[in-house]
Order: sequence, then C-alpha cells, then structure tokens
Amino acid sequence: MIPIEEALAIINRHEPPMVTESVQLSEALDRVITEDITAPEPLPRCTNSAMDGFAVFWNDVETWSGDAPPSLTVVGESRAGEPYHDTVLPGEAVRISTGAMLPDGADTVVPLEDVDDTGDAIIIRSATGQHQHVRFEGEEIRTGDTLLSSGARLTPSSLGLLASLGVGNVMVSTPPAVGIVVTGHELAGAGAEIKPWQVRDSNALMLETAIRKAGGRVASMSRCGDLIEETEAAITTAADSSQIVLVSGGVSVGPHDLVKQAAGGAGFKQIFWRVSQKPGKPMFFARRDDQLLFGLPGNPVAVLNCFAYYIHPLLQRMQGRPFSWETLSGTIDSPYKNRGDRSFFLRVAVSREHPEPVTITPLRKQGSHMLSSMTDADGFLLIEPGHALEAGDEVIVHLYPWRS
Ligand code: AMP
Ligand code: MG
Repeated sequence: MIPIEEALAIINRHEPPMVTESVQLSEALDRVITEDITAPEPLPRCTNSAMDGFAVFWNDVETWSGDAPPSLTVVGESRAGEPYHDTVLPGEAVRISTGAMLPDGADTVVPLEDVDDTGDAIIIRSATGQHQHVRFEGEEIRTGDTLLSSGARLTPSSLGLLASLGVGNVMVSTPPAVGIVVTGHELAGAGAEIKPWQVRDSNALMLETAIRKAGGRVASMSRCGDLIEETEAAITTAADSSQIVLVSGGVSVGPHDLVKQAAGGAGFKQIFWRVSQKPGKPMFFARRDDQLLFGLPGNPVAVLNCFAYYIHPLLQRMQGRPFSWETLSGTIDSPYKNRGDRSFFLRVAVSREHPEPVTITPLRKQGSHMLSSMTDADGFLLIEPGHALEAGDEVIVHLYPWRS
C-alpha cells in the first residue's frame, strides 16, 4: 500500500502524451489551445466612427467663437460596409454610421443629436474635443499582440474575438479518449427488470459524465460479469480505442475480483495496487505502452472520489491545462477525528454567510457506498490518520471539479 502523494507522483510520471489537432473555430468550443495565438491583423481593422453622426475636420469646430455655430456642407456618406472615398475638406462634413470607416481628412465625429441637420448642411450645436467618437485602427489590438495563451479553454467570447480577427483554424488538444468497463455480476442496467439481490449501476453514468466534464471523450462503455474471459475481453476492446481505460469494481481481494488478472491478460503491467486512502483503498494502476488503466473500487463514492483526485487532473493535463485544486478555507462546525490508518476524504458542505464567514459542515453518511452525501458535498477535507479537528478549527476544502 502506498500513500496518496506517491500514487499521484507515479500517475504524473506516466502521463500519456498530449495529442493535438487543427480545428475550425465552429468546432472549437471548450477545446484547449496548445499554442499562443497572435493577432494576424489589427482591431479595429480601420479607423471608424463610434456613433451615427457626421465626420468633420476638428479645426472647423475649434474656430467656432460661440456666436455663430459652424455650418458645414454635407458632401457625402460613409456607411458601414461602404466608405466615402474622397477626402473631407475644411468646411465639409460626411454623414457617417456607427462602424463606418472615417474618411481621410476627417478626425472627429459629431453625433446626430448634436447637430441641426438641413440635409445639405449641418450646424454643429456642441462638440467636446478632437477625435471624439472615433475608434482608431489597432486601438484595441495591434497586429502581433497575443490574443490567447496556450492552455486557454475556448469560450463563446474568445471564439468571437478570434473570428473578428480572421483566425480560421486553431491548434487544440484532442480530448483524451477514455474507455469504461463496468464489472459486476450483481449489476442491472437502467430500465431492466431487477431482482432483489441486484444493484442498479450508477458508476457507468457517473464515469461517462465525469469524463465529459473533465474534457475527455468517452471512447467506449461496456459492462461485464465477474468472469475472467469476459473481463479480459472487455478491457482488450476498451483499450483498442482508448488512451485510458477505467474499470469499475473487481479490484479488491475477493474471489470474484478479477480485474488485475484480466488487465494482465490484456497486456497491462501493474504499477501499483492499493493506496492508503478511504474510500478507494484497492485502487489499481497499470500500463501498456502509452496506455493507462485504472481499476477503481466499485463503491460509487470510491469511484467518483478517485476520479476527482487522480483522473480529472490527469485528463486536464493531457489537454494542456495545468491543474490546481480550487480550495476554500473556513471553519468546521463540528469535531472530526480520523481514527483509521489511511488518509480520509471527508465529504463536506460549504455554506457562506455574506460576506463571511465560510462554514464547513461534515456530512453524515460517510460510507463509501453512500452516494447521497457525495451529491450534497461541495468538496472534501483530506484528513491524515490520527488527526483530530475541533469545532471552530480553520480548514481547507478541496472543491469537487464538477461543482460549478
Ligand atoms: P467491488 O469493488 O466490485 O467489490 O464492488 C464494491 C461495492 O460496490 C459492491 O457493493 C458493489 O455492488 C458496488 N458496485 C460495484 N459496481 C457498481 C456499480 N457500477 N454501480 C453501483 N454499485 C456498484
Ligand atoms: Mg464487484
């Protein structure tokens, strides 16, 4: 049995290589970019108007004494998508729309609201300064500026920014392909007729959805009974299309726990078995070339907690995103002592009074088969063997990655 830090370090050392691909922006939502993206052109692309109004030459406005407001001849129009091609001369104004290119010669925009418009001429009633309501070429982004750094996850707004700069394709990491094998003679699928001694399968759906939340792709999902041939065949098939195989159940010491043997038959070599943790002690980790296999103890809380602690961070890193836990500190509202000899993941709920303090409540029903407390939990406290917490102690909660 190894400590959790050692299990983490070993998994880190065996991290499979990141795979990258070029995709169109329309396919890139939630994907992680694997290189910095620089601006191929400036933004705005040309100097343009921020208002509907008139493009004028500031000197005409500036010489206004106040007695006789300047009157300018309207010589044409610059519309969005259709510029005015001549130069604006002193004494002239060009009708202009928001986003339309500022014509040469003009340096200032006077909004419609601030002029008397007779059609052929305008009288300017007020203006505050040269360059008012003008957006200059490149004032937001210059050619070559870094738009997004490697490791950023693409969002609707970042995709919009890339589109506005004419970026067509982006290099992103390929979602890690994960195969799931759920073992157990006792399991009944959703909707199936169920006998009193059977158990409804929760792990398949939990793993599928947790993988997707972590940015991975579920490459395959299969169930098998506790038979060596079936389990070996299921692992072999899952490994055909996956970088990582997650097996639920069958890794403990019972006579029907055959996953280690089946994984060996499928060509995986054991790297560790058993971690000093609760839940999840019989966790098994194996490797075949660049492929990894995790044998997760079948109790649903063990499955999900092991996924959160070991596999979610791994899937993030395989996408080019460094992982760090989101944590929160607060005071625990009741005492807790770890009387066991393994690191304990204590499921807790967080409540916040505004603005402070943060109260941390250990949940009842901490059994590793009790998924209801996992559902109510915002995160966990990692409590080392023998460590005792008193009510009022300051503690740090690791928040589950799927919480928000
Ligand atoms: P195992 O790790 O196979 O010994 O399973 C440990 C416990 O988890 C047993 O009570 C199983 O019935 C239960 N279990 C195993 N797999 C699942 C599953 N997919 N869904 C719900 N419970 C499961
Ligand atoms: Mg089992």
